Amino acid sequence: MKKTALVCINAKFIHSALGIYSISRYAKKQGIEVDVLEYSINHNEMVIDMDIFEKSYDVVAFSCYIFNIDYVIKVASVLKKANPNLSIWLGGPEVSFSPEEYLSYPFVDGVMVGEGEITFEKLYKADFCATDILGCVYKKDGVIIKNASRPTIENLDVLPFAYSEDVLPKLKDKLIYYETSRGCPFRCSYCLSSTDHGVRYYSLDRVRENLLFFISHHIPLVKFVDRTFNADNKRAAEIMRFIAENPGETTFHMEISADLVTKEFCEIVENSREGLFQFEIGIQSTNTKTLDAICRGDHVEEIKRSVLALLKTKKAHIHVDLIAGLPYENLESFKNSFNTVYALHAHNLQLGFLKLLKGTKIRAEKDTHHYRFTDYPPYEIIGNDFLGYTDIVLLKKIEDVLERFHNSQSFCLSLSFLEGKYKDAFTMFDELSQYFCKIGQIMLPCSKPVLYDLLVEFYREKFDDVDDFCVYLAFDYYQNLKVGKAPNWYPDKTDDVFRQNCLEFLYDDEHIKTYLPEFIGEPPKKILKHVRFLQFPFDPLNQDKKGKVVYLFENNTKKAVKIVENV
Ligand code: SF4
Repeated sequence: MKKTALVCINAKFIHSALGIYSISRYAKKQGIEVDVLEYSINHNEMVIDMDIFEKSYDVVAFSCYIFNIDYVIKVASVLKKANPNLSIWLGGPEVSFSPEEYLSYPFVDGVMVGEGEITFEKLYKADFCATDILGCVYKKDGVIIKNASRPTIENLDVLPFAYSEDVLPKLKDKLIYYETSRGCPFRCSYCLSSTDHGVRYYSLDRVRENLLFFISHHIPLVKFVDRTFNADNKRAAEIMRFIAENPGETTFHMEISADLVTKEFCEIVENSREGLFQFEIGIQSTNTKTLDAICRGDHVEEIKRSVLALLKTKKAHIHVDLIAGLPYENLESFKNSFNTVYALHAHNLQLGFLKLLKGTKIRAEKDTHHYRFTDYPPYEIIGNDFLGYTDIVLLKKIEDVLERFHNSQSFCLSLSFLEGKYKDAFTMFDELSQYFCKIGQIMLPCSKPVLYDLLVEFYREKFDDVDDFCVYLAFDYYQNLKVGKAPNWYPDKTDDVFRQNCLEFLYDDEHIKTYLPEFIGEPPKKILKHVRFLQFPFDPLNQDKKGKVVYLFENNTKKAVKIVENV
């Protein structure tokens, strides 16, 4: 049989390639042994080429997505030139909707369209002669032949669990992707999952068994790829309750539809361990006409209620998404969407840009609104009847400062204070982005301490009360950065008496037990290297309270505790 590798070039090193693990495990069940090779787009392409070449395969099958297709094409082209006998197959969502386009590359021999498990097994058993294999599009004597499509797998339980004990060493420190279902019942016009017909589920017994595998192996983060995890609320609640009743160290991340969130759902989160769940919620827009045009329906009020209810539990990390470039959403309308969604104060607000993916309704109807988009993946919007490229550029810059200052969660108090100075959040981020453009820092890498310095400079340029602002910023700074030299904008003004009092504080065993239990038994001078006592002129967490306060910051836990009030 042919020596074969399944290859995925992941978006990040920490990602895992669920698709090829699932295919290889199904193949193994049928007695087929193949290698699974994972790389990331941060690898040098030549390193990937050399690695695959030296393993002397007969067949290499790549898993293709919009984020890696460019890399796959370059790597595959070199591999074929290095070894003309190598057979190269592609699969995955990026190639499934336009297999002919990819077969026009001379180095591609075939494309597996749709779900790969059974197609790959049949193809392998046929020695990669695709003549009778459903779901294959391939070249024969230079002619492209398209076989009939393969029906989707109705009973997902025929597929083995994608992970096993023997792959765990490879997955150490990785974010594990996992599915309990395939397909989505909704029809959002920009989304590939809307082209699926209905949702198929793995049995609950199977899911419970898989979840225990993750929990018992202390996997740090499992990300469900279910398109809408709570599409079936009863089932979602059962899975979440099972996780909550078997809490380990694993965090579970799910994409949910917030308008479907029930009281029961919130109660399970409320009663769970903090950090057990993370939820990703697509809001996309708050413009009714836009939501109607993309077939999502206007559920903005229900979504807002659910996001606020989930945030109120203080147990789960909440990520919300907006998409710029949707129909009928001009800059003014997007500002409204942004301000409405930002006001929810979710932990993370992702400002995404519409991608006109192959196979989607919005791409098929691109001319209706005169969409212009990149010719190459990720087919991202350049303009339409509602947004010009000037608007897109402005939003890209806002995305940059939003990521740095809001989504980093490193400026919570200072950003909230700054927000109070503006009529709305969009204007604040717009001014911040203009400042970053002016100083030549927009979209350029910048260390965390420098970001704090720049924010002070920005504030100084705009407002007078910089001393007050620096109190909030200093709190954020010490909560998020390792204790070290004091920043220039908040110099250490403490005297010997204060320092002596701090040391004495650490000599008191009761204090260590209460505030720093991880340091029990450690000498105070050693503890002092890991903590910082900071006196503030007012309480940054409660401005109404008068008088100076002292907070104790600790490096490892990023903990900040008030130890003295009204000094
Ligand atoms: S955007 Fe989400 S809800 Fe809409 S079709 Fe895609 S996966 Fe389903």
